Amino acid sequence: MFIPTIGLEIHAELKTQTKMFCGCLNDGLEKEPNKNTCPVCLGHPGTLPTINKEAVQKVIRVGFALGGTVADYSQFDRKSYFYPDLPKGYQISQYEFPIVKSGVLNGVRITRVHLEEDAGRLVHDREGKSLVDFNRAGVPLMELVTEPDVKNAEEAVAFARELQLILKYLGASDADMENGQMRIEANVSIAPENAEQLGSKVEVKNINSFKAVHDAIEYEIKRQEELLNEGKRVTQETRGWNDVKRVTESQRTKEEANDYRYFPEPDLPPMNLKEAFDLEALKAETPELPEEKRRRFVQEFGIPKEQIEILIYDPELAGYFEASASELGTQTEKPDYQLLANYLTSDLRGLMKTQGIKLNELNPVRNSPPSGPSGARGAGEISNGIKIPPEHLAHLAGLIQQGTISSRIAKDLLLKMIETGEDPENLMKTNNMELISDETKLGTIAEEVIAKNEKSAADYKNGKENALQFLVGQIMAKTKGKADPSIAKTILEKRLK
Ligand code: ZN
Ligand code: MN
Repeated sequence: MFIPTIGLEIHAELKTQTKMFCGCLNDGLEKEPNKNTCPVCLGHPGTLPTINKEAVQKVIRVGFALGGTVADYSQFDRKSYFYPDLPKGYQISQYEFPIVKSGVLNGVRITRVHLEEDAGRLVHDREGKSLVDFNRAGVPLMELVTEPDVKNAEEAVAFARELQLILKYLGASDADMENGQMRIEANVSIAPENAEQLGSKVEVKNINSFKAVHDAIEYEIKRQEELLNEGKRVTQETRGWNDVKRVTESQRTKEEANDYRYFPEPDLPPMNLKEAFDLEALKAETPELPEEKRRRFVQEFGIPKEQIEILIYDPELAGYFEASASELGTQTEKPDYQLLANYLTSDLRGLMKTQGIKLNELNPVRNSPPSGPSGARGAGEISNGIKIPPEHLAHLAGLIQQGTISSRIAKDLLLKMIETGEDPENLMKTNNMELISDETKLGTIAEEVIAKNEKSAADYKNGKENALQFLVGQIMAKTKGKADPSIAKTILEKRLK
């Protein structure tokens, strides 16, 4: 029986205006190679770096959000290694004096969070040539290192997901794993239960998704177990996750820290963070984090965990829900938040997906920047006229809750809302979508349905409960979904007694 010990190293590109040590734009979406470059980030001799204050501030915020200690004193160091996309031949990083020390997340202790610069990107073309794009070189990169407190693959994924959310909530990073804004490395070792020493550590790189985090760790634990069971040794090394073969492959035997020849960066001044920033103010500005929001959503709205996760995962969606929920609260005495959450997380999100609409397009009043003199459009309007502000969704939920419209009609209404941008109440009236609950009217329709479906009527009289459901369905079809199903049911029951 072997016990795994796992530590994580997570890099995240920070969302800043400019790069870490120069004035070039930090734009991960730039398609033109080498556009955002200058002599500094290209490593030309004689150039001098300057520290991006915004990046330092973002790491400080991350530190506070993780309950860490922000150092009074911090400095940059040179980490020397050769790689074609690293133009200076060294990376400016931090060694002995990181910005953040300690902290904890999901029960995993955090060793440190430091700041460094990203490398460029190698592009391998079809003819076998390799090209280098330096747009990413010098982009501020945060590195977080954990203590080896992670016990299995699931915990590693949970940690990484929660960190990703926190980075998004702080606006520190978009932390998208698919495009490399967040990159995870796992240090995995195993040792017999009660062993005094940890086993040889294997560092797994090239992990590009949460699924890969999980699978790479599981694979590595199993591989090491098999080696030890065969009486072999685990080599301390760096391995890469092969996403196609689903295996880890040896890359190189692990280098030691002193291979990098760290030394203090002579071109940058040391940082006295206490003097440079109002740390107390930064701490106080920590926004509501995902865990707090979860707890509050359970308390305030009483909706299921899975649904809360969908909302929490996208801070913008969570904000939209809250705005809509507070509107629903003013409309009805007992607001049905569950109903509202259902329409938002399933129906509306589904529609947005099929129509390719983003949340900020749904709610342009709140999210679009004010249009300048050149913009002909007025506030709250967008070119294609699509918009469902949170109030409208709340009105829709209210109409369903009060029984004014059926859930089937609600789907049609939602589509009309997205097309016209109008309030559901007006749309319902102009399109004659109100629920038919008039008993005389429904009675006549029930008679017709019974006459047309004599066999089902007889079946029901003979005790076949299912037949009644069929007849209700016929009434719904005849009224194009506008009949109040519960009244239709009662009327049928009465007539068939
Ligand atoms: Zn530059
Ligand atoms: Mn690093």
